[in-house]
Amino acid sequence: MVGPVKVLVTGGAGYIGSVVSAQLLAEGSQVVVLDDLSTGHRDAVPSGAGFREVSLLDPPVLAEVLAEGFDGVLHFAAKSLVGESMERPELYYRNNVVGSLNLLDAMRAAEVQRLVFSSTAATYGEPTAVPIREDAPPCPTNAYGATKLAIDAMISFECGAHRLTAASLRYFNVAGARGEQGERHGTETHLIPIVLQVALGAREAVQIYGTDYPTPDGTAVRDYIHVDDLAVAHLLALDAPAPSGPTGEHRIYNLGNGTGYSVREVIEVCREVTGHPIPAVDVGRRAGDPGVLVASSERITSSLGWHPERGLTDMVRDAWTFARSRAAMAGSAAHPA
Ligand code: UDP
Repeated sequence: MVGPVKVLVTGGAGYIGSVVSAQLLAEGSQVVVLDDLSTGHRDAVPSGAGFREVSLLDPPVLAEVLAEGFDGVLHFAAKSLVGESMERPELYYRNNVVGSLNLLDAMRAAEVQRLVFSSTAATYGEPTAVPIREDAPPCPTNAYGATKLAIDAMISFECGAHRLTAASLRYFNVAGARGEQGERHGTETHLIPIVLQVALGAREAVQIYGTDYPTPDGTAVRDYIHVDDLAVAHLLALDAPAPSGPTGEHRIYNLGNGTGYSVREVIEVCREVTGHPIPAVDVGRRAGDPGVLVASSERITSSLGWHPERGLTDMVRDAWTFARSRAAMAGSAAHPA
């Protein structure tokens, strides 16, 4: 697809979906966000985007929305908490797998033939080799990753049987913000937002989950990608030429920053950016956390020319600006002038 297009963004009221929507608008595309607001925020939808409060579990309304006519769909809407997925797998299978099946049905009926799906590197499970390549055996260790893998398989068969051309992007930890679009979770479990809560004075200290991993400083190493770099990858995947022929194609790309950062490195960068001492307490490992999770981006670099441009300092700086502005907004709401 070249030039301005009309794109449906499911989950566009969430963290990554809202950033991708903002980037699409900035490059002149028309955007309609579809979100049930179960975890997203109405005010995260960038101005200029259309908005439909619709659930993927409502096929008749979904069909109506798709019938408006779109050049492509970016699919982010999903339940995405690993712990919750183990406690309520049925919620994840219904929302993620059934919801995606409904989306594919509506797209097929409306002849929308481009899809970019926000998959996850959690589809691979415990890695046998790092960095993780796309040919690594998928073996998810939680229901969240299993639902995303099931959707990837569904998309592959759909592309083989019909004219859909799709890309699934698999990545680990997303960080940073794009202006007013950033990470806003009800219960925060992610490292960078938690560390920034300490710097804001909302928490006493950060707990370091495990210091006995086989890594240079003993803490776990993760692959962090700036949300803006991630959004660029989605738009490149959407723009890639479709194959000629009677059926489509499903391309799978891993996204990573190449080396990864340890928990201690992340905290140290947060100290430098915020100027706050950020006390840290060493505690035991969190159940189910592998030592090193880093993805290889070789395939998407050679196929689409994507490479991450922003490092950890950029991610922390942007997340910090966003966190402070949200805290200031909350403060002025609590104490109106
Ligand atoms: N982590 C930590 N303290 C926290 C939150 C996370 O030490 O309060 C560690 C966690 O064990 C993992 C890394 O930071 O090694 C990133 O965790 P996060 O939950 O942000 O993302 P995950 O890699 O689990 O998707």
